[in-house]
Amino acid sequence: MKIMPNRMDRGFEMYQKEFEAKALEVLRSGWYVLGKEVSAFEEEFAAYIGGKYCVGLASGLDALWIAFRLLRIGVGDEVIVQGNTYIASVMGVTMNGATPVFAEPDEHFGMDPEKIEPLITDRTKAILVTHLYGMASRMDEIVAICKKHNLKLVEDCAQSHGASFKGQMTGTFGDVGCFSFYPSKNLGAFGDAGAVVVNDESLAKEFKVFRNYGSEKRYYNKVVGANSRLDEIQAGLLRVRLSHMNELTEEKQKIAARYSKEIENPLIKLPTLVSGATGVWHQYVLRCEERDRLIEYLNKKEIGTIIHYPIPPHLAEAYAYLGHREGFLPITEHLAKTVLSIPMYNGMTEDEQSYVIESINNFH
Ligand SMILES: *Cc1c(COP(=O)(O)O)cnc(C)c1O
Repeated sequence: MKIMPNRMDRGFEMYQKEFEAKALEVLRSGWYVLGKEVSAFEEEFAAYIGGKYCVGLASGLDALWIAFRLLRIGVGDEVIVQGNTYIASVMGVTMNGATPVFAEPDEHFGMDPEKIEPLITDRTKAILVTHLYGMASRMDEIVAICKKHNLKLVEDCAQSHGASFKGQMTGTFGDVGCFSFYPSKNLGAFGDAGAVVVNDESLAKEFKVFRNYGSEKRYYNKVVGANSRLDEIQAGLLRVRLSHMNELTEEKQKIAARYSKEIENPLIKLPTLVSGATGVWHQYVLRCEERDRLIEYLNKKEIGTIIHYPIPPHLAEAYAYLGHREGFLPITEHLAKTVLSIPMYNGMTEDEQSYVIESINNFH
């Protein structure tokens, strides 16, 4: 049985008729960028997340860098980020000229509150938390640290649509929740798309102005902005997917529960959530000291896997200028050498799940 790490075609087929009808509706409407689909999506997504305002943008990276721009974080400022995040989180900081300060993650791949305070200096302006793989971080402790030290809090929720901590959804704990709707994400569009969720009305308005060349009224430009507009087709298709979000999330949670219950192999460590957190399983990430041999073994069984991520941002060539060397973040670096994401997608059949479980259990 051949199993790919992700199957976006399955997620399309589940609601194919609705997607096709919505795409045609938008094509025939004669209005293609920032219109009624975008406004409706913004309202529906804010309601889903439990935040006050949502502003649609062109990508998750845009959500991140524009967030730091509008929070006035730039040259000379430091932002604490977890070392094992996706490099786009870090780029959101450095595109503004600010400096990322890397913290080692906890046992659950999340931001470790205990590692934050020793890193705070008088230049620290914000904390960026990534709810990696769709697993929420310990937000109560992190929010308390931000309050104590008067720091901004930005959440990278590109992988955590619908994940919560103590009943509150990720993306609503701090100043800005940043979302990506890249096709492979839990709430995926059919092209690039992103958004922010904020509770502050004037900040929401600033995002709306910034995404459209800094103009509130056409051709009256208040600030130097960007083109980071969300288009009507993506917004319309996102509304279709969002209307099924609870069942899509439950399906992934069921697959994850089966993996956690049935995968049993002393060579493999399973992912666990912090107490109070829910996971939406953007990825299901194993750890294995003999990862390369495991990949090869699974390849032979035609089971595809992905490493999220093989090179941590502080060791990426792009960040050589920060001057970090191998050995600087031992926990992060060890994760990069041992993590492995196994197949996890909406529309995954029970037979496919069983084959993955059985194959992994027979690895020795
Ligand atoms: C996907 C992703 C991003 C970037 O989103 P894009 O829409 O691809 O720009 C940022 N952070 C994390 C954690 C991601 O997974």
